[in-house]
Amino acid sequence: MAHPLTDPYGFAPLDPRSAPAPEYGSGALCDVIPAALASFAVPGMPATGLELAPADRVCVFLVDGLGWELILRHPDEAPYLTSLLSTSRGGTGRPLTAGFPATTATSLASVGTGLPPGGHGLAGYTTLNPDTGQLMNQLRWQPWVAPDVWQPHPTVFQLAEAAGIATCQVSSPTFVNTPLTKVALSGGTFHGRLTGEERMDLAADRLAAADRSLVYTYYSELDSMGHRHGVDSDAWRGQLTMVDRLARRLAEQLPPRSALYVTADHGMIDVAFDEESRIDFDEDWELRAGVAVLGGEGRARHVYAVPGAAGDVLAVWSEVLGERMWVAGREEAVAAGWFGPRPEPRVLGRIGDVVAAARDDLAIVAYRTEPGESKMIGLHGSLTPVEQLVPLLEVRS
Ligand SMILES: [Zn+2]
Repeated sequence: MAHPLTDPYGFAPLDPRSAPAPEYGSGALCDVIPAALASFAVPGMPATGLELAPADRVCVFLVDGLGWELILRHPDEAPYLTSLLSTSRGGTGRPLTAGFPATTATSLASVGTGLPPGGHGLAGYTTLNPDTGQLMNQLRWQPWVAPDVWQPHPTVFQLAEAAGIATCQVSSPTFVNTPLTKVALSGGTFHGRLTGEERMDLAADRLAAADRSLVYTYYSELDSMGHRHGVDSDAWRGQLTMVDRLARRLAEQLPPRSALYVTADHGMIDVAFDEESRIDFDEDWELRAGVAVLGGEGRARHVYAVPGAAGDVLAVWSEVLGERMWVAGREEAVAAGWFGPRPEPRVLGRIGDVVAAARDDLAIVAYRTEPGESKMIGLHGSLTPVEQLVPLLEVRS
């Protein structure tokens, strides 16, 4: 089928409809907690088609940056996680899709609300706030907006707590009371612990402290090492070994009738430092034409056009990048299901007039305006399997 932009000289941009959209509602990160608590029939819990065996005590261990394909590539560093990967090895592991964009703020909100990004509204690393016209960083929550206005839905933790399930989060003390914690993890008690070992031990304790419990715990350092040193660096491998030990440590302490799910917010890909691989938006007059604000991150861009220029921006981005990225207008990206089945009206204006998701090993960086992010070796955000697929590894007691 010919794409409308195909020209007679053989230029054929990727069709956004051919991109692998996340499996919201059946096999995505937002489905994990609704599925794990399904047997409790918690009032208000989002519906899901994902089926998980019932357990009285549910623990979710979210490892930042632990992509499914990255585990497959490193059996020596992750022997325990590898043993959980496939039924042939006695495990029950399977991949889930993280959601789009495959980025921490978006994914944490998906886990914590049970909703796709088009529902909770954290639609990227940075997105436009249509009320102010400013770019809003969802991870750092800058500039500040009222959290409960930006994300008005109850969290799965609040719903579980209201249903009488003992609920808590065990994470870094840094995250207590942050706006992101508020919108994604409110409900129950937040316990800050500095080390991974302390978090695993406390998670197991809290899980055992009630007949019905829900415990969420989190570890961030694998992602940090990937950004700084790349996903095959010694530092990253060392962190993977650490994560493997932490998962085993938690699994070995599970009280009876528990299910532990090890999962992640996204995978990661290394992007080379050359002009073909890193296109500098700040210096690219073609890509900048008609663009008011550039949002998102290197591999998943929200592009906001000046009034009247959306069509031109889409045409130019498609022509320049369309063979290496899925470039879609807002309506196309929404229709393709990238943000979920039916994004809420309040979320639509946060999505770029043009959305560009990298298929190949490249990134649209911005060395002047995003110096920190543009220097990162490992990146994530897009719809490719290495970024999008995250593990759902299960341990039962
Ligand atoms: Zn990251």
